[in-house]
Amino acid sequence: MIINTSLTIGYKCSSCGSFEFFNLSLFKLLSKKDYNLTCRCNKSRVTIFNYNLNEFKIQIPCIGCGSDHVFTISRNDLLTKTVNVLRCPNTGIEQCFIGSDEEVRKRIDSLEKEFDELINLFGYDNYFKNTQVMFDALNKIHDIAESGNLFCECGCNEIEMLLLSDKIYLKCSRCFGVEVINAASNKDLKDILTKQQIILTTDSPGIIQCRSKLFISKTDEN
Ligand SMILES: [Zn+2]
Ligand SMILES: [Zn+2]
Ligand SMILES: [Zn+2]
Repeated sequence: MIINTSLTIGYKCSSCGSFEFFNLSLFKLLSKKDYNLTCRCNKSRVTIFNYNLNEFKIQIPCIGCGSDHVFTISRNDLLTKTVNVLRCPNTGIEQCFIGSDEEVRKRIDSLEKEFDELINLFGYDNYFKNTQVMFDALNKIHDIAESGNLFCECGCNEIEMLLLSDKIYLKCSRCFGVEVINAASNKDLKDILTKQQIILTTDSPGIIQCRSKLFISKTDEN
C-alpha cells in the first residue's frame, strides 16, 4: 500500500472557470481544524474540515449548479486512492480532483487536451465569447446525447450542431426542429448544466432566426 503524505487538489474555480492547483501536506491538513484554499482570482475557495478521526469534509462552490457542495471523504480514501474525483451531484461536472500530484495533473491535462483540440479546430482562442463556457456546454450536450436524451420532437435523434460565438444551434436533420443554447457566460453554463434532456421543437424561440439561416444557406448553394 502506498500512502501519499503530499496531496494535490485540482479545483475548477466557480468564479473564473480555470483549474487551480493546491499542494498540501497531510500533516499540515491534520494539524488544523479547517483549511481554506483560495483560487488565485481570489473569488472562490475550497474549505477542508477535519471532521472526525476517519473523515474529512470538503466544501466546494460549484461552477455547475451554483450552489456549494459538501463532500465526505474517508481518511482511508484520501490516504490510499491515487485520485478522488468529486462531481457535482446535480450536473455531473467534474469539479475537483484530490490525490497524488501526478494523477491529479494527468486527469486535468486530459480535460484540457480536449479543450485545446476545440481551440485548434477553430484556429484561435477568440472565436468564442467565452471559450471555457462553450467547451463545458459542448461537453454537457455530448453527455446528454450519449445518454439518449437529445432528440427532436419528431422522434429523430440525428441532431446537427452549429457553433456560433455565443451560442449553440441544435437542429434536427429531418425536420425544422431546433433548440438554441446560449453559451457565453457562466450563467448560461449553469442553465445548460442543470439540463437532463434537450428536446428540439419547431416552436422554439430560435426558429425564425434559424429558418432564415437555413434559407440563406440554401440560396448560397444555388
Ligand atoms: Zn478563480
Ligand atoms: Zn453543483
Ligand atoms: Zn425533427
